[in-house]
Amino acid sequence: MQRGRRKPDWLKSRPPSGSRFTEIKSILRDHDLHTVCEEANCPNMGECWSGGANAPPNGEAADAAEGGPGGTATFMLMGDRCSRGCNFCDVETGGMEALDPAEPANVADAVAEIGLDYVVLTSVDRDDLADGGSAHFAETIREIKRRDSEILVETLIPDFGGDPEAIDRIIDAGPDVIAHNVETVERLQWPVRDRRANYEQSLAVLDQVDRESDIHTKTSLMLGVGEYDHEVYRTLGDLREVGVDVVTFGQYLQPSRSHLDVFEYVHPDVFETWRRVAETEFDFLYCASGAMVRSSYKAGELFVEALLR
Ligand code: SF4
Ligand code: SF4
Repeated sequence: MQRGRRKPDWLKSRPPSGSRFTEIKSILRDHDLHTVCEEANCPNMGECWSGGANAPPNGEAADAAEGGPGGTATFMLMGDRCSRGCNFCDVETGGMEALDPAEPANVADAVAEIGLDYVVLTSVDRDDLADGGSAHFAETIREIKRRDSEILVETLIPDFGGDPEAIDRIIDAGPDVIAHNVETVERLQWPVRDRRANYEQSLAVLDQVDRESDIHTKTSLMLGVGEYDHEVYRTLGDLREVGVDVVTFGQYLQPSRSHLDVFEYVHPDVFETWRRVAETEFDFLYCASGAMVRSSYKAGELFVEALLR
């Protein structure tokens, strides 16, 4: 464990580069689309964008995989402003805009042009919309699958205020993975998340997907916000109880001084321990765990590897 404001060495990363990275960036600009990868300046862009299901499973994947298309990217749907304000998240709150009806087709065109084999769709929360934006989200999944039924689609969905019909709309659109993040242990839901989110509601979302479909479910937790080990352990049990297949752990990083403080920088060995516990004691399909891991970290690569095991 390392406390204090100075980032430890294991959190330093190389800036993304390579011709595949430049090509994807330019296609995204042509379609006027946003990815979480860029908005959050995610340190994993080089790996994820070039990874592909068959790329080498290490940090040097960027150039090695340039011979062909592939990789994972996370598209952010429904604007860049959120109706909620979580204390760990850098997305602007309020000032919601109307949905762009062309967005589902536009995202699908970009995915096809880039040649991604695994796409992650996520969105801001849209509590201002009657259906929480679930129909728009579902339409984007359908547009992507219409163009290429082989492409794997992971959705990282909001809780839709606990509305089961909204979650059914996502299930019916047929994504391959439905993720919803609990973000942290039960005790820390507030102050980490917006007050409209809570642990029980998030578990209910994951439970509904598990009960009503064969779609794989996934969730993520940030470490370093003040959680105790026994709380993380209990959370793993709660997640398995509602049938969650995949869990990821990453280090919380403070986006600005006005966001929640980092309580501690968790050592890489601790992340490795949680990976082992999740996979061996709790039998998750896989667990991606590391300081730089984000919910969608090399999602396609790890998902396909796990299914082939
Ligand atoms: Fe950020 Fe999601 Fe919270 Fe909105 S609901 S503030 S996008 S984490
Ligand atoms: Fe994009 Fe997620 Fe990979 Fe970061 S971890 S580069 S947000 S796909």
